[in-house]
Amino acid sequence: MHRIYENNDITVFWDSEKCRHAKKCVYGSPQTFDISRKPWIDVTIAPTAEIWQTVSECPSGALTCVYNHEISVKLDTDACKSIAYDGNRQIGECDYRVTPDGWNIYHTEVMPEYGGKGIAKRLVYKIVEAAEKAKASVIPTCSYAAKVLNG
Ligand code: SF4
Repeated sequence: MHRIYENNDITVFWDSEKCRHAKKCVYGSPQTFDISRKPWIDVTIAPTAEIWQTVSECPSGALTCVYNHEISVKLDTDACKSIAYDGNRQIGECDYRVTPDGWNIYHTEVMPEYGGKGIAKRLVYKIVEAAEKAKASVIPTCSYAAKVLNG
């Protein structure tokens, strides 16, 4: 399971398959990581610095995070894509097709000047999370999406 959580400053990713359920995060930021709550992660309560520190101490790599750099990422299920914006300007997108076998992610692209900010990962996670919530399989034809899912 892949989940993405955002506040104004950061985006947190959680990959349940890597999680060892050791609860280090629960002790590090109890307001953020609460296994009695659904969803169990909420990045809107505790200070961002506390969340960042806790995520960086996850021993398994199940939790990762990036700064948003004031870039927003939206999912458009009608257009079958996620889109990254700097203000009103589109600066990246990730595209998928809904097939009988699952959601096929076939293209991910971010403008080169916006590279190294984790935007492509945010784009892929938006789609993967939605597919998983729709109980659809994810088929990462795009090599970058495959790297995000298998890395
Ligand atoms: S610290 Fe990481 S490995 Fe441990 S429970 Fe939290 S997410 Fe899972």
